[in-house]
Amino acid sequence: MSKQTEHSVASYLEKLGQYLDVVFRPIEKIAHRYILLPFRWILTQIDPLSKAIEGTLFKKILQVSIYPIFLFLTFVIGFRLVEGGFTSRTFLGTIVMFLIFGLIFAPLERLIPFSRRWLDDKDMPVDVMMFFGGKFWGDYINRPLRIATIAVVVQQISPTIGIAIWPAHLNMVIQVFLLLSINDFFRYWYHRWMHENEFMWRWHAVHHSSERLYWFNGTRSHPLEGLISSFLWAIPLAFVKAPVEVVFVTSLLGRTIGRFQHTNMDLILGPFDYIFSSPKNHRYHHSRKLEEGNSNYGGDVIFWDILFGTFYLPKGEQPSDDIGIANMPNYPQTFVGLMLAPFTYGRIKKEAERINKESEE
Ligand SMILES: [Zn+2]
Ligand SMILES: [Zn+2]
Repeated sequence: MSKQTEHSVASYLEKLGQYLDVVFRPIEKIAHRYILLPFRWILTQIDPLSKAIEGTLFKKILQVSIYPIFLFLTFVIGFRLVEGGFTSRTFLGTIVMFLIFGLIFAPLERLIPFSRRWLDDKDMPVDVMMFFGGKFWGDYINRPLRIATIAVVVQQISPTIGIAIWPAHLNMVIQVFLLLSINDFFRYWYHRWMHENEFMWRWHAVHHSSERLYWFNGTRSHPLEGLISSFLWAIPLAFVKAPVEVVFVTSLLGRTIGRFQHTNMDLILGPFDYIFSSPKNHRYHHSRKLEEGNSNYGGDVIFWDILFGTFYLPKGEQPSDDIGIANMPNYPQTFVGLMLAPFTYGRIKKEAERINKESEE
């Protein structure tokens, strides 16, 4: 593309952004007033209790037990949902399960927050819109269906394709962990590539634009990034020919781990920090400091990072709650701005350089 065309495409997109803002800004405002404010009022009722349990044994028990309990529940509910094969019950059950998990997460974050500053939820309407703009279709409908479809197709019509060495005789839980690890090997490299290649970064930066981490903002990513990564998720899963129940529960477990990755709960995880992509090690991944942010790429497990030398978890230290994109104070924070950001990245970057230069002078 010539410089001139690039310039006119960028200014066209900027104009388009202005028009779309006329439609979407009022929606953000309405969502803020009628969804967020009542929801916030309910949550703030928990604050006195949160202060009262500070330093108690009760809080410690919560901090240690919540994570394993949710992992356990995911296994139990997941295998129950898929008992009679992959049916509409499985599909609806998955949605209900994640809605209930979501409803429990928000009050728990309020009860035992890692950062009280991160309780400020002014960005939530944008995240809700990002969710319906992309993640909802990608994760809750498209992905489970696509994984199951690809897996079934591969198993049914081409028994000669794929590796017929899947250890189906092993315990189901072990099979799920095995599949989760194989799958995350691909996601690890894809994620790392998105951080190390500037063209890929412009898509993934949308995810890193959050200035706080909480239960819902794992949903903040560009739909095009999600589309590619969910295929990457599905294809290896389908070709190793694991049983469909294992594929399904692995997918659910990935969602539970993903939800915790972004939680603001102050959890004590011990060995889990060295097995899974946990809230603590993922907070470093969202750091503004590049030497911290270019680490912990694992989506579900963290041992590929340990193996390939990108694991970052200094002992006896807590990650900072000042997170976001390095040196880009002007990165968009509206729904339309985020949707267009990968396309206008060049402009955002140039503008950021100018702002940073001015503040240095
Ligand atoms: Zn990342
Ligand atoms: Zn993240």
